[in-house]
Amino acid sequence: AEELLRKSEKLAVVGELAAGVAHEIRNPLTSIKGFMHLLKEECKTHKHYFEIIESELERINFIVNEFLMLGKPQVMNFQQKDVSVLLKDVITLFDAQAILNNVQIISEFEPDLPLLYCDENQLKQVFINIIKNAIEAMPNGGKIKIQAKMQENSLIIRFIDQGCGIPKDRIAKLGEPFYSTKEKGTGLGLMVSYKIIEAHSGSIKIESEVGQGTTVDIIFEGLTPVALKR
Ligand code: ADP
Ligand code: MG
Repeated sequence: AEELLRKSEKLAVVGELAAGVAHEIRNPLTSIKGFMHLLKEECKTHKHYFEIIESELERINFIVNEFLMLGKPQVMNFQQKDVSVLLKDVITLFDAQAILNNVQIISEFEPDLPLLYCDENQLKQVFINIIKNAIEAMPNGGKIKIQAKMQENSLIIRFIDQGCGIPKDRIAKLGEPFYSTKEKGTGLGLMVSYKIIEAHSGSIKIESEVGQGTTVDIIFEGLTPVALKR
């Protein structure tokens, strides 16, 4: 519990700072991109350099956008939603990328799940981050099983991959900003995800076995199973 508290305090401070900085970066970035485009049109000889600059600008843009998600009290749009519908939407987004990476996504959603009071876009962002990590953990392909089910009064959304896994001593580091083992990683995906799930009064639990795979659970407690409502 102490570990969790430490992590969330850190998240709050970083989140505040990050949102401010990200906002300040966005405006000049837009202007640089605009002029870059004009320059590229005029100067055909260094096409390759421009492409590098543009892809690096895209990367800054990506990081800044992920950071902005951390913004303090965001304008949240909470509604009662069926998480299996949100999951299906997100899985569709990954159709092409999954085929490209030889990854098969299998969904197992219990029927009659209770609706969850949530911000649809933010929750989708979390699902995207977790599925992206699962695909990236399986460079030779494999299966990702995505489950949504009730366990007593808890709604559990579980992502099981067959990827590289995470060493035991690293699991505590997950969700810390900039902790990444990837050459092109930002180490922000899980941090943003923790933040969003925290704002939904849920929790994230990660279990992993090196060489076997990783299971990520998102848990929302205190929901009434639909069967009991009838
Ligand atoms: P990034 O993906 O940019 O590295 P994340 O915050 O999404 O940042 O993840 C942080 C780190 O956690 C990753 O670099 C990776 O080492 C580890 N990780 C997260 N999910 C998985 C997974 N499903 N399998 C293996 N490692 C993972
Ligand atoms: Mg990631």
